[in-house]
Amino acid sequence: MTDHTSTPRTQPARIVFIGAGPGEADLITVRGSRLLSHAQVVLFDALADESLRDLAPDAHWIDVGKRGFSGKEGSDFNGQTRINRLLVEHAFAVGQAYGTTGLVARLKGGDPSLFGRLEEELHAVRDAGIPCEIVPGVTSALAAAAATQRPLTRRGSGRSVSFTTAMTRTGDLQCGMGPGQRADTEVFYMAGRQLAPLARGLAEAGWASDTLVSVVSRAGWPDMRHSMHTVGSLDEASAIHAGRPTLVIVGAGATDIPDQPLTHIALCGEG
Ligand code: SAH
Repeated sequence: MTDHTSTPRTQPARIVFIGAGPGEADLITVRGSRLLSHAQVVLFDALADESLRDLAPDAHWIDVGKRGFSGKEGSDFNGQTRINRLLVEHAFAVGQAYGTTGLVARLKGGDPSLFGRLEEELHAVRDAGIPCEIVPGVTSALAAAAATQRPLTRRGSGRSVSFTTAMTRTGDLQCGMGPGQRADTEVFYMAGRQLAPLARGLAEAGWASDTLVSVVSRAGWPDMRHSMHTVGSLDEASAIHAGRPTLVIVGAGATDIPDQPLTHIALCGEG
């Protein structure tokens, strides 16, 4: 943590965490785009669309992207610590230069509150007494559902959705999926590189091997890829989506909508 006791006391600039959305620049919210245009400094990740820069052409843009897990002990930790420090330093520098109109934007892919290490950054910012705000964004799971026209919830059959990361801090696949299924529709982030172990974990959690799985990479971009599999054949998706940000959607939300509109909704416990 930076020691501010030796520097002259200035009011830090406000920090706004902005969800950039999952892909092309126009998937950012109107509020996110407005606040971005007021920022003097923007700290951004590698996933954000380069043309977002057009929304704040005069700001100082700083790439803090960690480009995923390195797999080396401690290296990701250092990357996050560096980002936390940069946030605090820039908030004080912008505050000194611009006073109360100063604004630092922290642009994050998708929605900042999902698998974005937001808690660590919030902690650092609050610790340094810096006022902040969070602007939500379109998370990639919602962009994938929209682009494939497969709603994540379904009347009668899809009453719950879970968002899960398949990766642990060290970049390994989580050991097992826990007891049973988490939801009628399960969405896995960061699973792209380990689809075969994910399929085994799903089978162990009780999903039948013919359960449909929708795999979507680069949702929200013109070059999105979508492929359909089953739990039993999920590893076939690896070759199609290799090296791309990929989501795995399992269960009710993976299925195509029926040809006929629903006329009867099964009640709980009804066969
Ligand atoms: N905060 C982000 C998630 C960051 S974690 C969000 O709300 O979307 C990074 C993971 O998100 C990737 O490994 C991938 O699983 C998923 N992801 C991000 N952008 C994606 C996209 N455009 N298409 C598919 N998956 C994406």
